[in-house]
Amino acid sequence: MEGREATARGRTAGWLGDAARDLVRGEHCVFCRTPGRAWCRACRRRVLALTLDPPTAAALDLPVPARAMLAYPDIAPAVLAHKERGVLALAAPLGDLLARAVDDLAPPGAPLLLVGVPSRPGSVRARGHDPMARIVTRAARSLRGQRPVRAAPLLATRPGLRDQGELDVEARSANLAGAFWCPARGLRRAARGGTAGYAVVCDDVLTTGSTVREAHRALTAVGVPVLGIAAIAVTPRRRPPSPPRQASPADAPSADRSTKNHL
Ligand SMILES: [Zn+2]
Repeated sequence: MEGREATARGRTAGWLGDAARDLVRGEHCVFCRTPGRAWCRACRRRVLALTLDPPTAAALDLPVPARAMLAYPDIAPAVLAHKERGVLALAAPLGDLLARAVDDLAPPGAPLLLVGVPSRPGSVRARGHDPMARIVTRAARSLRGQRPVRAAPLLATRPGLRDQGELDVEARSANLAGAFWCPARGLRRAARGGTAGYAVVCDDVLTTGSTVREAHRALTAVGVPVLGIAAIAVTPRRRPPSPPRQASPADAPSADRSTKNHL
């Protein structure tokens, strides 16, 4: 008994404990809680029917074309369970969604490097895994066979970067200025891999776009051409405030469950 309790201690062990419990007790669907798969077939059908058509993130005014497959509230349970609770079985369906966004963005057959936005080393330690790297790796695997494509972790965070979730909007923007850089080691490895091509910046959820803008800046600063930005989801945009006399029930603000985005 003592051994089990000792194993449960420690942040790194946290998600392993969750995964082990899931194995012993059986997983449940993160959407409907039905015992079984982490994302049951019925919820898969229901959520995938909600994919944006066309996949779009146009309202964010980003420097390159962007695609996102779902409105964030529709996929939030899976993104959060994978990221924060280490439900690793979700990496495959989330990676496949990201792959669809990439595929919609890039010309057929174009060789690609999928570059995930980096997480702070402290966040990776605390979670016990790197959710974005795992999803990007899966997306690259999903696209292989259709085009030359690799996951390329070209970006790193600078020391001192704070958790975006602790900051207000203005502070987040300042926090992200110069937040990412491209270590030479990763660039050399990408060059050796032999896939000349464009980078696609990959993120899980686009909110204000400031994270992917910073990723784009860091890549282009060292000469890496960026074709576009792909994400699993985008948060709904707030509507501009309407004058009171024009308000109607249809103008009620949509839910903006911005969660962004503990780097
Ligand atoms: Zn379900």
